[in-house]
Amino acid sequence: MTLLEIENLSVNYGAIQAVRGLSLTVQEGEVVTLIGANGAGKTTTLRAVSRLLRPVAGQIRFAGRDITRAPADQAVRLGIAQSPEGRQVLARQSVQDNLELGAYTRKGNFRADLYEMYERFPRLGERRTQLAGTLSGGEQQMLAIARALMSRPKLLLLDEPSLGLAPIIVREIFSIIRELNEQGVTILLVEQNARLAMNASHRTYVLEAGQLTFSGVSADLVNDERVLHAYLGG
Ligand code: ATP
Repeated sequence: MTLLEIENLSVNYGAIQAVRGLSLTVQEGEVVTLIGANGAGKTTTLRAVSRLLRPVAGQIRFAGRDITRAPADQAVRLGIAQSPEGRQVLARQSVQDNLELGAYTRKGNFRADLYEMYERFPRLGERRTQLAGTLSGGEQQMLAIARALMSRPKLLLLDEPSLGLAPIIVREIFSIIRELNEQGVTILLVEQNARLAMNASHRTYVLEAGQLTFSGVSADLVNDERVLHAYLGG
């Protein structure tokens, strides 16, 4: 089943055309990677899907429903959650408060989910009362992912989860991505680290200056010179 379908999407910031006529799909159960150089429009695409930006043209469908103009909180309720670029955890709130924030659209008891997160991310459990701003970069990234998971998403949008992290932590983050996917979470991943992202994903789309240049099965693209060219910015 097609979970996410983007058709002819265009997003502008004033006179800047950040995304131009982009079409892509994400099937249920997939990990899909979006790569491209700085400023290619990757973050803009994710923010349009999570309904934080309004497209000037095109359509976004999620589980068959047109969400192009849906408010952001409805996107969360429908099952879309984003772990943003730069983590954006609330530094002066505790780890647990940050996690509870991720469940804001949910009614009822989510205590079980908190414990599930602490089981999956033991370091967050150990630091549950600590202010999020005191965590290491890797721990903050895990918190950002866990916070997104608290809404029980069908589609997880991950924006640059490896940014600024040491290689050993990056490996850990990617093994979590694999694990989440094995447990049924569909993932749309934006990464600068193209090789790593392609190794962890089923399919890859390459963006250049707001437009899709090509796409394919990740395993076929890993050694493709055009990919290297695209994400290095030509
Ligand atoms: P990066 O890896 O640097 O985040 P990206 O592929 O995610 O790159 P976007 O952040 O989506 O790229 O940016 C796409 C284009 O839109 C760029 O030209 C960028 O300068 C521009 N842009 C992004 N955000 C804004 C904004 N708030 N106001 C004006 N222009 C913006």
